[in-house]
Amino acid sequence: MKKTDVIIIGAGPVGLFAVHQLGIKGLNAVVIDNLDKVGGQCIELYPDKPIYDIPAVPECTGEELTTRLLEQIKPFKTEILLSERVEELREEKTNWVVKTNNKKEFIAPNVMIAGGVGSFEPRKISLKEAEKLEGKSVFYSVRNKEQFKNKKISIFGGGDSALDWALELSKFSKITLVHRREEFRGAQHTLSEIKKLEKEGKVSIKTPCQIVSLDNERDLKSITIKFDDGKTEKIPTDVMLGFFGLIMKLGPIAEWGLNMNKKTIEVNPENFETNKKGIFAAGDICSYPGKLKLILSGFHEVALASVECFKRARPNEKYRFEFTTSSKTIKDRLGKK
Ligand SMILES: Cc1cc2nc3c(=O)[nH]c(=O)nc-3n(C[C@H](O)[C@H](O)[C@H](O)COP(=O)(O)OP(=O)(O)OC[C@H]3O[C@@H](n4cnc5c(N)ncnc54)[C@H](O)[C@@H]3O)c2cc1C
Repeated sequence: MKKTDVIIIGAGPVGLFAVHQLGIKGLNAVVIDNLDKVGGQCIELYPDKPIYDIPAVPECTGEELTTRLLEQIKPFKTEILLSERVEELREEKTNWVVKTNNKKEFIAPNVMIAGGVGSFEPRKISLKEAEKLEGKSVFYSVRNKEQFKNKKISIFGGGDSALDWALELSKFSKITLVHRREEFRGAQHTLSEIKKLEKEGKVSIKTPCQIVSLDNERDLKSITIKFDDGKTEKIPTDVMLGFFGLIMKLGPIAEWGLNMNKKTIEVNPENFETNKKGIFAAGDICSYPGKLKLILSGFHEVALASVECFKRARPNEKYRFEFTTSSKTIKDRLGKK
């Protein structure tokens, strides 16, 4: 089990800035996020949209903000674990132990929950067989594309993820792209590439239709789809990949014995501590009188929470407030002269 000063749950903008605020105080952190990329809502929901209310940054997109936050925390070389959902939180003397769905464990005197609106989870198909085959031949994300080499793959969805993976995996596998509508939402230039491949017989496109069954003995053999006109078709399939979008689930956070208020965690706005000592909440997930669900509010919240984290992680040291402009210690930590 790895020990650190602060375990940060959530790699959204607030979790990322928490790394900075802890880092300049000399605290180490580990960041864990359920998604396969950092940035939270900024990356998952509006990567190309301009944000106009980040102080001193007149305009930047969700993606640019994430890139800048990553740049700002580079000096701290913080471990960021992706595609890991924090499931359990338990007390061990004066520390907290966090366990992920992949059984990874961390121990620290402080936990900073920057879980936003909860973990983003893929929307799944509601067929019993699909549940049984999940992780073997039914997938909702691609972690390692090598495992999809030389297969018959049916990809479901009409957005960018479905189109991007159809194009990428067609380099070494036979692809059938299935969508419930005639039109695809994803980038039109990717769709044009796929249509070229369709003419070459490398990709087959089926619309408008939906899956009705998965045919399997032990492994997946084929899927059956039904077109809007009522016709059905069986498609030989080794692997089914579904990209039906994401849903937000508060998930395990609700079960950790924290005082909750309408899916948010109640905190003391002096230090953003919850009803449990050493557990902090910041960003969209926290609530206190007057809370605004804005990125800049989250930045302020982690600044204050990190002071309390310092006191718990370094009980024998005195916390000294310092400006980054004038503190030699902070400049050293940032690798600046
Ligand atoms: C369309 C849109 C436009 C917006 N525009 C603006 C704007 O202009 N200005 C502004 O200030 N704000 C804006 N916001 C709001 C802003 O995006 C949020 O306030 C901000 O993202 C909150 O950051 P966060 O880090 O608290 O949470 P999030 O960005 O939600 O990140 C939380 C992360 O925690 C992860 N997580 C949750 N639970 C777990 C778990 N158990 N284990 C592992 N990981 C977990 C999630 O996967 C997620 O990645 C906008 C929001 C939307 C949807």
